[in-house]
Amino acid sequence: MSLPGSKPKSVVIVGGGIAGLSTAFALVEKAKRMNQRLQCTVLEAQANWGGKISTTLVDGLIVEGGPDSFLSIKPWALELCEKLGLSSQLINTNQGNSQTFAYSRGRLREFPQGLVSMVPTKMGPLFKSGLVSWPGIVRMAGDWCIPSRKAGSPEESLASFFTRRFGQEAFDRLIEPLVAGIYAGDATELSVAATFPQFVDLETKYGGLIKGALAQQKARRAPQGKGGPPRSLFVTLQGGLSDLVGRLVEVLQNEGVTLSLGKPVGRVESPTGSEVRGKWRVHLVDDEVFEADGVILATPAYISSRLLASSHPDVADLLGQIPYASTATVSLAFPKADVQAYLNGFGFVVPRVENRKLIAATWSSLKWAGRAKDDESLIRCYVGGRGREDILELNDDRIVALALAELQDMVGVNTTPRSAHVFRWAQAMPQYVIGHRDRVKAIRQLLTTHQGLYVTGAAYEGLGIPDCIRDGTDTAHALCAALWEQAS
Ligand SMILES: Cc1cc2nc3c(=O)[nH]c(=O)nc-3n(C[C@H](O)[C@H](O)[C@H](O)COP(=O)(O)OP(=O)(O)OC[C@H]3O[C@@H](n4cnc5c(N)ncnc54)[C@H](O)[C@@H]3O)c2cc1C
Repeated sequence: MSLPGSKPKSVVIVGGGIAGLSTAFALVEKAKRMNQRLQCTVLEAQANWGGKISTTLVDGLIVEGGPDSFLSIKPWALELCEKLGLSSQLINTNQGNSQTFAYSRGRLREFPQGLVSMVPTKMGPLFKSGLVSWPGIVRMAGDWCIPSRKAGSPEESLASFFTRRFGQEAFDRLIEPLVAGIYAGDATELSVAATFPQFVDLETKYGGLIKGALAQQKARRAPQGKGGPPRSLFVTLQGGLSDLVGRLVEVLQNEGVTLSLGKPVGRVESPTGSEVRGKWRVHLVDDEVFEADGVILATPAYISSRLLASSHPDVADLLGQIPYASTATVSLAFPKADVQAYLNGFGFVVPRVENRKLIAATWSSLKWAGRAKDDESLIRCYVGGRGREDILELNDDRIVALALAELQDMVGVNTTPRSAHVFRWAQAMPQYVIGHRDRVKAIRQLLTTHQGLYVTGAAYEGLGIPDCIRDGTDTAHALCAALWEQAS
C-alpha cells in the first residue's frame, strides 16, 4: 500500500509513438492497481503524437501514411482498444473480394486458397494460380519428408530456412514477398527465428511446415478479441489509426500524465555514484532537464543509442547495431470509373526477383470501408526497403510518377490521379537480422545493471502495432516492480 502523503515516483518516457503512449497507459494502470502514486511525463520531439501512426483526412479520403491496420490474432492492440472504449470503432476488412495477388512473370496472379499463414496446405489451388511451376510445387511438397534441423544448429536467415524447406522457386515467388515485405527487408539478412519464430516451432514440433500447418488448421479458432465479435485477420479503426493515438492521449491527459510535444531529448544521464536511489536526468537538446526515478526510451534504437552514448556506451553500442530500412508510401486517389475495371481483391505484393520498384500496393478503398468518397478509388503503393532505398532521394513528384508508371505497367491503370500523398519513412523499419535475438537479450541484460532504465518499441521483439503495445506493457510492469515491489 502507498503511504498517505508518500512522494510519488516519477517516470519520463521518451518518444510518443504507439510504444511510448501505450507504455504510459500501462504504467498508469499498474500504479493504480498497486495503489501507488506516479508522476509520468512523455516527451515527444515532433509536433504530433503517434510516430509512425499518421492518418490524414483530406478531401473525403482517409489516408494512412504509415500503418493502415493491425493483426487481430495478436490480441494486445484489440485489448487496448477495448480498454480505451474504441471497440465499436474497429472495422474488419471488407467481405467478398478478399483475394490478394502477387505480380509474377508479367501479370497479377491470385494467392491460392489453402495458403494457411503462408504455408500451402492444398497443392491444387497453388498449381492453378500459376505462381509456382509444377516442378516447384513438387519440390515444395518435399517439405513433408525433409528432416528438421538438429537442435543447436546456427541461426538461419528467412531465405535459407524457406529455401531449405520449400525450394528456391516457391521461396522466391510465394514466400519472399509475404515475409520480407512486412519488414521492407532482405530475406537473406533477416533472421527467421527473430521475425517468424512460429515457422521454426512448426518445423521443430511437427517435423515440417505443411504437416504443422495442417495440424494447426484443425485446432484453429476464428481470431477475435475477448468475447468480442468475429474479427478479420487485419482490422483498423473506422476513422483511421490515428484515432487510437488521439484516444490514448485524451485518456492519459485525464489521468494526469504530462504530455509534451516539441521536446527532443538530447541525452540521458544516470544517477551519480553517491546517490543510492538517485534520479535519472533526461536532458532536452535545449538543455532543459527532467529528473526521474525511472526512464523508458521508446525511440528507435539508433536514437536511443545516441541518447545513451555518453552515459552508457556499452548499451549504446549494441543499440546502434540494429539496422533500419527506409520506405515510403504513396496514396493515389483516382476517379473510380477510370480504375475500377483493373482493381480486384485487396491488392498485390511483388517478389524481389521481379526487380520492380514497388514492394506492394493495396486497394485501400476496396479493402476498408470509408477510405474514399463513393466515386473515388484509393490506392496505396509501398516503395523503398532494404537495398532499394535510393527512391527516397527523389522528390515527391518523381516518386508519384514512378508509382504511377509501375501501376500502369503491372496492372494497366493508365489515368491521372485526382490527388497524390507521399509519406517518407527514413530509417523506419528495424531489421531483425541474424543475431538480433542475442543482441536484444544482451541489451536487456546490460540494462538490468542500470536500475530504472528501459528500452521499448518496434526495435526489439516485434515491429507490428500489437507487439509494440505488448512490449510497452511488459516494460511498464517491469518498471513498476522495480519502483515499488523491489523497493519495499
Ligand atoms: C510505412 C509503414 C507501414 C507500416 N504498416 C504497418 C501495419 O500495417 N501494421 C502494423 O502493425 N505495423 C505497421 N508498421 C510498423 C509500425 O507502424 C511501427 O513499427 C510502430 O508504429 C512503431 O512504433 P514505436 O512507438 O516503436 O516507434 P515510432 O512510431 O517511431 O515512435 C517513436 C517516437 O519517438 C520520437 N522521437 C525520436 N527521437 C526523439 C527524441 N530525441 N526525443 C523525443 N522523442 C523522440 C519520434 O518522433 C516518434 O514519435 C508500419 C511501419 C511503416 C513505416
